[in-house]
Amino acid sequence: MSLKMIAVETIGPVRRISHNRPEARNAESRQLLQELDEAVAEAVVDDGVRVIIIAGKGDHFSAGHDLKEAQRERADFTVEQRWAFEKTYYYDYCLRIFNAPKPVIAQVQGACVAGAFMVANMCDIVMASEDAFFSDPVAHTLGAAAVEVLVHPWVLGHRKARELLYTGGRLTAAEAERAGMVNHVVPRDELEQRTLALANRIAEAPPFTLRLLKKSLNRSLEAQGFAIALAAHFDTHQLSHVSEAFKAVRGKGLSTAIQKRGNDL
Ligand code: ZN
Repeated sequence: MSLKMIAVETIGPVRRISHNRPEARNAESRQLLQELDEAVAEAVVDDGVRVIIIAGKGDHFSAGHDLKEAQRERADFTVEQRWAFEKTYYYDYCLRIFNAPKPVIAQVQGACVAGAFMVANMCDIVMASEDAFFSDPVAHTLGAAAVEVLVHPWVLGHRKARELLYTGGRLTAAEAERAGMVNHVVPRDELEQRTLALANRIAEAPPFTLRLLKKSLNRSLEAQGFAIALAAHFDTHQLSHVSEAFKAVRGKGLSTAIQKRGNDL
């Protein structure tokens, strides 16, 4: 695999996979997501890897999906084309992180917005620096019914999830920690080391035990309807892509709409 948009590092039993487009605030282009998926798959089958970290190089974890690319390449997609694209690149790739049979830790600084919010929240554990913030503004900015994977109520609880989505606002790292979405908030210059220390501690447990443990933890969510709720939202989200509200934004340019609102970045 030749990597252009992510960086992969092996640090003892830990595989760190980083978004690596800092000049574009780590926007998740089609290629970046594909490389990320391939890197996760490689880490899963590599017996030397016991814990995976998903991170971002530079000032931000990620600003979310690459909307400039979306406007350029996918603005005129039919329902069928968009459904197929988003199912593969947004939905299935995300769920593969959730279902990876090894613990995955998100290491988040700066922006963690929309598409990146889904990726980070597929992880077992979220470590954040004090400057990190989380948002999913797409109801306001794009006329889209949240992002494709509605993980929000599962990780935030319903009250916080609804406020975040209805207002398009931000959660600070401290608020996200209080809501239980973030495990630990640490100073920015300690984020990498603290995340690595946590990963190394986890890696001391036998891998098969961790695999079983994660399976049971995932199943405790599945038993509450996690998978079917996410699948249902994915289809609902597709409906929002053919709404008049979304079409109006698309007509003006997806990324322009977001910039005009002075959104986040
Ligand atoms: Zn979408």
